[in-house]
Amino acid sequence: MPTTKPLQTLWNDLWAMSFPHFCLGCHSALLRSEIEICTACRLHLPYTDHHLTQENTFYKKIAALVPIRYAAAFLYFVKKGRSQQILHHLKYQGNATLATTMGQWFGETLRQANFDAHFDLILPIPLHASKLKQRGYNQSSAFAQGLSDSLQIPWRDDCMQRVKATATQTRKSRLERWLNVASIFEITEAAQIAEKNILLVDDVVTTGATLSEGIQALLQAQAKTVSVAAIASA
Ligand SMILES: [Zn+2]
Repeated sequence: MPTTKPLQTLWNDLWAMSFPHFCLGCHSALLRSEIEICTACRLHLPYTDHHLTQENTFYKKIAALVPIRYAAAFLYFVKKGRSQQILHHLKYQGNATLATTMGQWFGETLRQANFDAHFDLILPIPLHASKLKQRGYNQSSAFAQGLSDSLQIPWRDDCMQRVKATATQTRKSRLERWLNVASIFEITEAAQIAEKNILLVDDVVTTGATLSEGIQALLQAQAKTVSVAAIASA
């Protein structure tokens, strides 16, 4: 007998050999059960484990700018590493499936640490309309959708919009930022935000300037608490 594998597994492997898909981290052929990233890469991604410590380095960076409850990035951004490859695919190749899959993984990790109890609503940081048109999709929305699947918490992308393309407040003091009500974000569904514990989703966080403006806009719209989940922290 050539094999004792169940017929379905055999069929899946034959299918994968006939129509191979390649891992976005290392370019090896994927098994049919693997989505976008192979098991080896998945095991070796630079996970932050931020969610295990409330006052982690990422939290401290954002909390120095605006009040937040929790903050966790899924991956460290490592130059020339697998994470750079993967983030490049997210940002420039319009790979929404990858972003959603990664959101599901991170959501599963957070759920196991009981984070599903902390939030009422998941919101992605919106892209400016011009950038959305150019890129074709918002990777933070796709990631938020994946988080929502795993955490079983609703997400929506119509509560805020980006009215300016770039952050403007990096050189402003804390007080100046607070006084400047109209920042780069505009809240469009204030009733959905008031008194809610929001999980705000961003892609790759570097200085945190843009993110902090988003958090500030939500707090000014009477969000109860704001926490942050990012795909990666640079
Ligand atoms: Zn791989």
